[in-house]
Amino acid sequence: VTETPESNCDVLIIGAGPAGMMMAAWMARMGINARIVDKRSTKIFSGQADGLQCRSLEIFDSFGFADRAWKEANHMIEMCMWNPGEDGVLRRSDRVPDVPAGLSRFTQIVLHQGRIERFFLDHIKKHSEDTLRVERAVLPESLEIDEGKCDDHSPENYPINVQLRHLTDEEAAPAQANGQTVSDGLFRSNLVDDDTDALIKKGRENKGGSEIVRAKYMVGCDGAHSWTRRQLGFQLEGEPTDFIWGVLDIVPITDFPDIRNRCAVHSASSGSLMVIPREENLVRLYIQLTEIKPDASGRADRSKITPDTIIKAAQKIIAPYSLTYEYCDWFTAYQIGQRVGTNFDYKSRVFLTGDAVHTHSPKAGQGMNVSMQDSFNLGWKLGMVVKGIAQPSILKTYQSERRRIAQDLIAFDHKFSRLFSGRPAKDVMDEEGVSMEDFKKAFVNGNMFASGLSVDYGTSMLVAKPGSSADQGDGTDVSSTHHQKVVGRQELATNIKLGMRFPSFKVLNQSDARPWEFQEKLRSDGRFRIIVFAGNVVNAQQQARLKVFCQHLTSSGFLAPHVHKSIALLTCHASKRTEVELLRDFPDVLHPFDSKLGWDYNSVYVDDVSYHEGFGDAYKNYGVDKESGCVVVTRPDQYVGYVDSLDEEGFVGVESYFKGVLVS
Ligand code: FAD
Repeated sequence: VTETPESNCDVLIIGAGPAGMMMAAWMARMGINARIVDKRSTKIFSGQADGLQCRSLEIFDSFGFADRAWKEANHMIEMCMWNPGEDGVLRRSDRVPDVPAGLSRFTQIVLHQGRIERFFLDHIKKHSEDTLRVERAVLPESLEIDEGKCDDHSPENYPINVQLRHLTDEEAAPAQANGQTVSDGLFRSNLVDDDTDALIKKGRENKGGSEIVRAKYMVGCDGAHSWTRRQLGFQLEGEPTDFIWGVLDIVPITDFPDIRNRCAVHSASSGSLMVIPREENLVRLYIQLTEIKPDASGRADRSKITPDTIIKAAQKIIAPYSLTYEYCDWFTAYQIGQRVGTNFDYKSRVFLTGDAVHTHSPKAGQGMNVSMQDSFNLGWKLGMVVKGIAQPSILKTYQSERRRIAQDLIAFDHKFSRLFSGRPAKDVMDEEGVSMEDFKKAFVNGNMFASGLSVDYGTSMLVAKPGSSADQGDGTDVSSTHHQKVVGRQELATNIKLGMRFPSFKVLNQSDARPWEFQEKLRSDGRFRIIVFAGNVVNAQQQARLKVFCQHLTSSGFLAPHVHKSIALLTCHASKRTEVELLRDFPDVLHPFDSKLGWDYNSVYVDDVSYHEGFGDAYKNYGVDKESGCVVVTRPDQYVGYVDSLDEEGFVGVESYFKGVLVS
């Protein structure tokens, strides 16, 4: 009898879609002993999600691969709205910018999920030195959690026991519906049953290999049908609707004038269509399939859904314009439904991220983004706890921060998809029809949300806002238990909002005058940052304040050991660049010396006019006083945790914030 192999790992990730990849990226960056398994034998090559929000690009940039997506993608700049005129004939009624100006240094782009997975794979390979690889055709078949050990976060404790089953590539390949000529995503659609249980059964019957993994933490990134969620007995709450939509990725042949813009097309009586221009001449069409209805069991007949039925529906909606194609890259269909998970974690040991805890319609282009951002929120917290740097209680903020975002997403999608699926109103008296004015308003107002930039995390030990963590509304206590609560002084940086991501303006490198977006300096390296807005450093009094703050940083028994290790320092001053010298005017701790690398010339910046790229006016835009400055603490995910003054009192506040988060 061969024994089942057994091994330990710190973090076991189930599923290698966008949520799993983001989790693995953090693990690679932070040097965590992690594993990631996926039941499929290959990554995605076509279709599926394609929209990337501004915030996702900012995050990609913090890892260092936004440029790859930016270059390859199609950029969505304009959104056009098409509605029937008074004569019932389709006409363009409006044009609006796809993303309002000034929101982010990025705009929304589209590129298919397979490429995004590729960028992650390359990144994970590089940063883990090829030790963290997606293990494909592997899936869990049992999960045991030692309840008694969950609260003990000591390093030798592995309370999670998972049996993994290995499949052959043939066993793991999904069945395609249409004889393999065009890839389809129906196997992942909510119109069909999930095949996880069948795969486990097949693997057992064929006596494929199995192994036991003991883990400290586990993250279920296994999509809408999440096996992990089922094992925990957690539900998704919400309702499906009767609206069925087809998705077609084609190279269109058409006389419709706005085919290279994002368009919402509402026909008088044949349903609606969304046009998403894509890379390499592709266009994605989201098409309401009004002739396909769910049966009594609530499911639509999947066999009726072919590229042909979908394009016929599109032709009716877009008439009198013509629309055909020679090349179809991918298609799928789904039934709209908005659902949110009841729980996002089990005892701070097993977590669920992505579609495993929220599902909704894809048209607003949110799912992949919000899924990656769930893992972006959780990954560094797990990394810091595993390394013994942060207190395990910070893990509770995952649910308190992300469940509210999922609820907001569902509310947004509910509104947006109903307005989108509804028939346009004939006149003001037509109560059943959707007012096109309301649709435009919802789109424009929803833009801030859809960009991912409106995320505003509530009070916790990680976000020192006024109010109590009980204000979260889901009963999770995420206040710090170990020290006196501190509240950040928002008035010192009025536009660097506690709980929101650190915004970006241009600043110059003090040493070489090169302009940078300041946010680019907040890399995702698993460290907090103390951002010292040093103010007018040529003023002697201000210079003294800066020195006092820095002396405390280097002498504090609690903080000094963390400085440069789990807390990076970044400085921006507001004097003239030419009146200041790096080595003379800034304490060493702000630009430390390394015997091999010399002085650090990449940590001190200035709010001054550049030679070639204008003036970022960063202090004014950040709402920080140019004379006295302030101190801002950002978390490893760029969200703002704390703000205080640049002096002794401010130092005490900063130290107190970190005492609630880090281990001494
Ligand atoms: P998934 O991408 O579903 O990944 C889950 C992974 O887990 C898969 O690789 C799967 O094989 C694996 N897995 C599942 N079960 C197991 C198991 N038991 N064991 C091991 N592995 C398992 N989102 C956007 O943001 N923008 C868009 O434009 C957009 N368009 C979309 C268009 C369509 C047609 C569809 C269907 C979705 C679209 N979405 C969009 C949504 C987006 O695809 C999902 O929200 C996103 O993929 C969720 O990521 P995830 O990692 O949570 O789950």
